[in-house]
Amino acid sequence: MKNIENLVRKNIKQMSPYASARNEFASVSTDNVYLDANENPFNNGLNRYPDPFQLQLKNRISELKGIPPAHIFLGNGSDEVLDLIIRAFCEPGKDNMVITPPTYGMYKVLAAINNVEIREASLNKDFGLDKATVIKAVNARTRILFLCSPNNPTGNSMDNVTIENILNDLNCIVVIDEAYIDFSGNESWINKLALYPNLIVCQTLSKAWGAAAIRLGICYASEPAISILNKIKPPYNISKLTQQEALKILSKTKKYRKNISVITTERDKLRSQLGKLPFVKNVYPSDANFLLIAVTNPFLLCEYLLNQGIVIRNRSNLTGCNNCVRITVGTPEENKILITKLKNFLYEKSTFYRP
Ligand SMILES: *Cc1c(COP(=O)(O)O)cnc(C)c1O
Repeated sequence: MKNIENLVRKNIKQMSPYASARNEFASVSTDNVYLDANENPFNNGLNRYPDPFQLQLKNRISELKGIPPAHIFLGNGSDEVLDLIIRAFCEPGKDNMVITPPTYGMYKVLAAINNVEIREASLNKDFGLDKATVIKAVNARTRILFLCSPNNPTGNSMDNVTIENILNDLNCIVVIDEAYIDFSGNESWINKLALYPNLIVCQTLSKAWGAAAIRLGICYASEPAISILNKIKPPYNISKLTQQEALKILSKTKKYRKNISVITTERDKLRSQLGKLPFVKNVYPSDANFLLIAVTNPFLLCEYLLNQGIVIRNRSNLTGCNNCVRITVGTPEENKILITKLKNFLYEKSTFYRP
């Protein structure tokens, strides 16, 4: 079994965490008089600090996912979770992390903020994961490999056997960002946590659960990894409002499933409609709630749609994404409007070029 203790930064291993007044939080009982945390005593529903370990919310997530609460960590969005992972394991100016471009832009930004070197192991032409390329990018100071599956901005899932081989061969932390997993038919890597102490899986309420505004990132990992994240997190990183709202959202599983079904049906419909437009050169297969398409002129297309009140994302500057734009799947009505505008674009461009 791999031991992740020796991957943790020395200062983090040695420090003692902030002891908040409510570390032994059970739930604010009305029987007690709380004079320990310098709070305002007048009850307005928000005057007390929230549960620093979000027990009720973790129990609900545990129930949904079949993962014990001790293997769950919650962050103020995945962005906080990813930042804490980097801070726990990468010594600034010394250690490095490997990413697989084209991928989610935050990995690079968070590495830069933390002064951690980025090493790139590009995906292959079909945006598949290549083990040899990853192994080549890894060196003795590599502490984390970031994988994103389904990947943003390409939409495809990474091959499970390749990931498994990588997990078996590498001793560093392997983060699998599953922000879009609910839109794919694939099994989550959370079910393999027991096999890999160095595996950290990130999910979020921002996409399939439709709650980007409340900022809740979820991470699943071995107990030692979770306890390190608990040690270094800001004590009250998940507000009471977020915890309450998340519990409400996570109770609406029927709505969640319905949304996913509509979005994936719309995605597949959109994919075939986009494929018929002559200025669309390729629509990449997607397991997510967006499509990456290669077009003849991404700048012209984005500008045209913007003038029509539709905002899409030009991704043509990313490695391997020449001439590509990324389009999020909208409501059925929004997608209909998109296709109409794209047909108009085709018409206007053809009249433009008419002699
Ligand atoms: C959208 C997205 C997230 C979600 O980030 P939050 O901070 O939880 O909103 C995480 N990873 C990827 C790859 C994403 O595209």
